[in-house]
Amino acid sequence: MSRIAYVNGQYVPHAEAQIHVEDRGYQFADGVYEVAAIFRGRIIDEDGHLVRLKRSLDELDMAMPMPDRPFAAVCRETLRRNRVQDGIIYIQVSRGVSRRDHPFPEDVKPALVMTARAVDWPANADDDTGAEVVSIADIRWLRRDVKSISLLPNVLAKQEAREKGAYEAWLIDADGMVTEGSSTNAWIVDDDGKVVTRQLDHNILGGITRSTVIKLARENGIEVVERPFSLAEALASPEAFLSSTTSFVRGIIGIDGSVIGDGAPGPVTRRLRGLYLDYCRGAGVNE
Ligand code: PMP
Repeated sequence: MSRIAYVNGQYVPHAEAQIHVEDRGYQFADGVYEVAAIFRGRIIDEDGHLVRLKRSLDELDMAMPMPDRPFAAVCRETLRRNRVQDGIIYIQVSRGVSRRDHPFPEDVKPALVMTARAVDWPANADDDTGAEVVSIADIRWLRRDVKSISLLPNVLAKQEAREKGAYEAWLIDADGMVTEGSSTNAWIVDDDGKVVTRQLDHNILGGITRSTVIKLARENGIEVVERPFSLAEALASPEAFLSSTTSFVRGIIGIDGSVIGDGAPGPVTRRLRGLYLDYCRGAGVNE
């Protein structure tokens, strides 16, 4: 089946979807994006993604490309045209097309692109194997709370991780503390069974999965502490895991080649993964 992309007001065959050479997203990475998961036709945490998109735009003094209702309609139409019941939707807004010049252009319309594709989440959800991570210096800019399309340090970190046979890179700040993964949030479980993840500020992206996992944990009697933790603390922790829209909650079984816990996803991680997947499969999603 041929894929369809939404590009600035038109639905076009994916292979023909094009952006102008002077789109500021292309030239300056002057844009933001969102990725949301679709489970059984529903956009998981749709409201959370919309709120974060608006916040990212606002931080860069950009406007939503259209009001909420037509925006939601375009999301649904993109999913429908791609026949996505389980999968992902990618949404990108750039500042628009203008003669190349650093300052914000006047009277430019934001450019909106959406793509969607099917992902077999049920198969993915059954894959409960843990992941290896490697630590890499966090060389990103200091506004990581903005979901900017400027992802070069993240791309380099992920590539280094893959070349070392790992699934993810954990990014380490100048104080030896873990900020987050290259495309995931980072978590450990302490000796008391409390779940620890870095607090929200400019140093990390406020993951939508992160906030849902915190909510689910607290609703189910698991204590969550939002504070920085060091790589050394993570290495000595009984459990570690990561979270994101496309990885859900995934156990970490090794960091820099050192085994975490007993080398398999631990009980708290498995519980949170189960709670999160149940949430995605239906309970409480956009109802
Ligand atoms: N941190 C970074 C740097 C990311 O790119 C992502 C994924 N977009 C996340 C965390 C996880 O965010 P979410 O749970 O919203 O997918």
